[in-house]
Amino acid sequence: MNNTKKLSDLLRARFPYIYIATYEETRATKFIKNIVTDEKQIKFVRDVFVWTQAGGLKTDEKVIANTTSPNKLIEFIEKYDKDSLFILYDFHVFFGNKQRPADAAIVRSLRDLIPTLKANTVRKNIIFISPELNIPDTLQKDIAIYDFSLPKLEDIKAHLNKMILTNKRINVSNLTEDDKDKLCKAALGLTMQEAENAFALTMVNNGKLDKDDIGIILEEKMQVIRKTGMLEYVESDLGINDIGGLDNLKKWLLKRSNAWSERAKKYCIPAPKGVLVTGVPGCGKSLTAKAMSTIWQLPLLRLDIGKIFSGIVGSSEENMRKAISTVEAVAPAILWVDEIEKGLSNSCSNNDSGVSSRIFGTFLTWMQEKTAPVFVIATANNIDRLPPELLRKGRFDEIFFVDLPTLKERKEIFKVHLERRLKDEEVCADVKPDDEEFISSLAKMSEGFIGSEIEQVVISALYDAFFENRALKPDDFFKAIKNTVPLSQTQKEQILSIRNWANVRAVCASSRENIEMYKTLGIGESENLDVNASRGGRRLDV
Ligand code: ADP
Repeated sequence: MNNTKKLSDLLRARFPYIYIATYEETRATKFIKNIVTDEKQIKFVRDVFVWTQAGGLKTDEKVIANTTSPNKLIEFIEKYDKDSLFILYDFHVFFGNKQRPADAAIVRSLRDLIPTLKANTVRKNIIFISPELNIPDTLQKDIAIYDFSLPKLEDIKAHLNKMILTNKRINVSNLTEDDKDKLCKAALGLTMQEAENAFALTMVNNGKLDKDDIGIILEEKMQVIRKTGMLEYVESDLGINDIGGLDNLKKWLLKRSNAWSERAKKYCIPAPKGVLVTGVPGCGKSLTAKAMSTIWQLPLLRLDIGKIFSGIVGSSEENMRKAISTVEAVAPAILWVDEIEKGLSNSCSNNDSGVSSRIFGTFLTWMQEKTAPVFVIATANNIDRLPPELLRKGRFDEIFFVDLPTLKERKEIFKVHLERRLKDEEVCADVKPDDEEFISSLAKMSEGFIGSEIEQVVISALYDAFFENRALKPDDFFKAIKNTVPLSQTQKEQILSIRNWANVRAVCASSRENIEMYKTLGIGESENLDVNASRGGRRLDV
């Protein structure tokens, strides 16, 4: 639900300027008019004017002559002596951006108007509605931003019902109320216009509307989400069995699946907010994000935070807000912020007049206060670059550290990849994916290997056999292991340093049992003792 109270509070608190960044000017205008013309919602009912550069000022009844120019408009507002609200469309064009400067005279007039708007005699506010969030620096402190949410399920359903009623030729005989709900849920995350277009597309397709049309709506939604340029719908069929090791992390996630269900409400458990997964690259952080979507049966949206921060300054704030509101509209959903450090480290630099730190602030506040069922999984390789604010209590439910896989974990990872690829009987005549002894020797030999290197060993062995057009041999694997110089050797220092960091701040993604067995076996006392003998992360069971 759009927060009616918040907007009426902003109006009553005499905020001179309110900015709503949305494409949905008609829906937003209707929403505002409902508030300011209803005594129950606002104490002093206002006259409402809408302005466009082409048409000037208009009320529902009349056009105000000679108000198309912004100067004349401002003059009119200044002189108007009744409680009123002025909604200005597309005023951002006077506010400048990276390519063009702001219209200094208009910006100055707006600043001069503030005392009039704040005066106690009559209540007047101005609301800017624009598809772009674009505020000149000199007005930053005088403009409040109001987040107008995308349509909710009940709004979409009401709209669909209206479409069905007005379009008598559409056959809806197979459409149950339950199907209708599903179609509308699929349209969450779209503006009302986009939802209408998607429904219209399904209708023209075959003249009927039924549950089979969900696919078309989801496809439209993916297009729209893709168009944001920052969010990507990640489709994955990876499940819990595709992750070798990381038992602690897996258990934590499994415990929280269905945390938004009706049954969970009975236990009064707080909805999980999010998890930060850090650690050695190539050890399964992204894999975990993808598998989570399957385990929790929720859509996974990947946010390219680097794109937001490195984007054209000025529109970046709007991008972040848009991304957040799209994810919230799709909720319940998982938001995957991949390589979060890449974007956030910009916020510490001062070379973009504070835009990055404002965006970072928006994201942190949202993380802390969000009420929509959006679970954030943030992944990071380079923890040095994470700002301390991100790690404060209350942001994430837990911070996990993914270390080099232990012996038992390497066995599991080998098993995952052998089972995935060794399918053909002829090719695997001499190598069985369930041969425990063989897998044990691979795991022992690959000490210090990360998950992706283990996957590469399997792929490389397969290529050797394929190239020579013969069945796989155990030797293909042993050779591939010997030929690999693992990251744990080439980046020993970095691994040791993130491990030190994790010892204080993070929980180990591998289980206690796994690590203790590893220690008892004394593995790791061979070539690179310091990297492999100890593990990073507090060893807590979850
Ligand atoms: P990162 O930790 O850098 O996000 P990824 O999750 O992208 O690493 O891992 C790269 C690939 O390596 C995965 O797609 C997967 O095939 C393999 N891999 C890494 N860790 C594991 C693991 N624990 N179990 C199974 N496969 C793994």
